[in-house]
Parts: sequence; C-alpha cells; structure tokens
Amino acid sequence: MPENASYQQIGEIFARYDSFVIMSHVRPDGDAIGSQLALGLALEAAGNRVRMINDDGLPDNLRFLPGSDRIELPPTEPLEDYEVAIALDTATKPRLGEASLNAASKAKVWLNIDHHKSNPRYGDVNHIDSSSPATGEILYKLITALNLPLPDASRDAIYVAVSTDTGSFQYPSTTADTYLMAADLIKRGLDVGKMNSQTYDSHPYRRVELTRALLNTLELTGGGRVAHWELTLATRDSLGLKPEDSEGLIDMIRAIEGVTVALFFEELDGGKIRVSMRSKDPRIDASDVCGQFGGGGHALAAGIRMAGPLAEAKQQVLAAVCAALPGA
Ligand code: AMP
Ligand code: MN
Ligand code: MN
Repeated sequence: MPENASYQQIGEIFARYDSFVIMSHVRPDGDAIGSQLALGLALEAAGNRVRMINDDGLPDNLRFLPGSDRIELPPTEPLEDYEVAIALDTATKPRLGEASLNAASKAKVWLNIDHHKSNPRYGDVNHIDSSSPATGEILYKLITALNLPLPDASRDAIYVAVSTDTGSFQYPSTTADTYLMAADLIKRGLDVGKMNSQTYDSHPYRRVELTRALLNTLELTGGGRVAHWELTLATRDSLGLKPEDSEGLIDMIRAIEGVTVALFFEELDGGKIRVSMRSKDPRIDASDVCGQFGGGGHALAAGIRMAGPLAEAKQQVLAAVCAALPGA
C-alpha cells in the first residue's frame, strides 16, 4: 500500500501541473462540497485551470457557500485537457460516481485526499489522515503549509466542511488543532454567526415534515441500545424531499440516552438501500460493521449502499449491529 504523501510532495504536483479536475463523493455533504471549493478556489487563485464536478451536483442546502455555483455536473465527454484528477472526502473510487469517473478518465495523475480510515488508497498519490475530523481540515493544513492563496470563499468552505463533519465541533474527532484552525479562520475574517446560521438555521419546512415522518417509524432494539428509523420512497415522494433534507437528522436518535448505535435506512431508486450508521461507543466500530456489507467510513460514522428490499436490509444490518454490541 503506498505511503501517505507529504504536503511537500503534494505541493510538487501542484507546481508541476496547471490543470485540475476536483471531485467528491455522490450525495455530497458539507465536507465534500466544502473541500472541493476550498482546494479548487485556492488552486485557481494560484493561477491554475480548475473544474469542480460532482455526480449529484450542488445540493440546495450548500448554495449559500460563496463560489458554490462553480460546482458542476460532470460533462458527458471526458475532459481532455485536465492533467490532475483530485478525489476529496471519498472513501472508495466508485463513490465518485460513474459520470465523474468518465469525465476524469484522461487525467495523468490521480491524487486522493481523505480522512476515511477504510480508504484503500486508490490514487497515484494518497494522503489519508483518519485522525482528521474532516477532509476540510486536512486541506486547511495543506493550503497553509504550502503558502497557497486562501481566498475568502475557500476560508468559508473550510469552516463549513469541518463544522458539518464534527457536528458543530462536538464529536470526539475534534481536536485542539480543529479549534485553532477555526480561530485562525475567524481572524482571517470569517463571519462565524452568519456561517452557522446559513448552515443550521435555514432549513426548508419539508425537513421538519420529514422529521415527523421519521419519528413515526422510530424503533429501539438491542435492549434499548440501538435506535433506527426509515424513509420509504412513498414518503420521499409525498413530501417532495430532496436527498440533502435528511442530512444530520440521525443525530436526534443518536442523542437518546442509552443508545449507542443509531441507524437510518433509506429506500433509493432502483431497489437499493442507503444505510447511515452512528456509534457512540468506541468498542463498536461502525466502519467495520458497514464493511460487512460493502460499505465503510469512520469508526463512529459510516454508511452502506446495499441491495433491498428495505425489510431484508434492515433485518441483516440490525442483526450485525446487535452481534457487535459489547456482551452480545
Ligand atoms: P453518512 O451517514 O452518509 O453521513 O455517512 C457517514 C460517513 O460514512 C461519511 O463519512 C461517508 O462518507 C461514509 N460513507 C457513507 N456511505 C459509505 C459507503 N457506502 N462506503 C464508504 N463510506 C461511506
Ligand atoms: Mn463526506
Ligand atoms: Mn468527511
């Protein structure tokens, strides 16, 4: 397995080439889009040509980020004249999506920067730091170490990337470095109140309707240690939901006293099921449990895309979770 490239070695790639196609995972979250904008706009400010593409485009909840209109759907033809492909916050290469992989297929060099411990290092150059709470924090360290420009839009994107992946600087992955980074971003002019309000206090009404629907499906199992709820296609369609509407809602059931594992099951088009898993107990490794079904992620936050139907996926995953409970 290739070793982690140093920031200096990554800097050599930035110096040698001048065109970059920057990607992140399907169903992008704040860390995915924030990381793309942070690095993309910094490389552009340094005089490079940059395209930022995502298979699912820009979710509405992140449109407030300055520069976010630069996030595009992948072009249908491969990008001929972009030398370096950069995958950010993406645990496996297929999670970039087929259209993005096709668009980047002519790149000469693949750079893979991520914080998922399950990342198999699929780049030519890899920097995987599973001790980092967010890919955005790795990029902050990279950009400042290399003395790259840090435009205001990159600054804001880094803040939102790290804030959303740490549950607002709460999860145990948050370190002193994380708070020092946030302090530095504020010193550089970040409007912390506005940024938090745009991230957390501006949800569409249908997200609350989704919460009500999810609560109606809430169940506890494993002696009260496992909480799960589910979203069917019928509910999605009747409420007119968008993929990003459920982002972060799992924290509500994760927060139940006595619960150590929270699960969200979601029906997707094409008969697939998306599973979100959160653990509050370091003895239960969510990435390992999800790995049993082809998924992955972090020790305390992981996910799966698996075959349905919903009832079957639920039964299998709940059985694996209950088997992983201490004392099971
Ligand atoms: P989510 O529940 O979608 O917020 O995902 C939790 C964490 O697990 C994120 O860091 C995801 O990138 C990661 N993750 C989700 N689904 C998968 C998957 N199928 N394979 C690998 N990592 C995943
Ligand atoms: Mn992500
Ligand atoms: Mn992340």
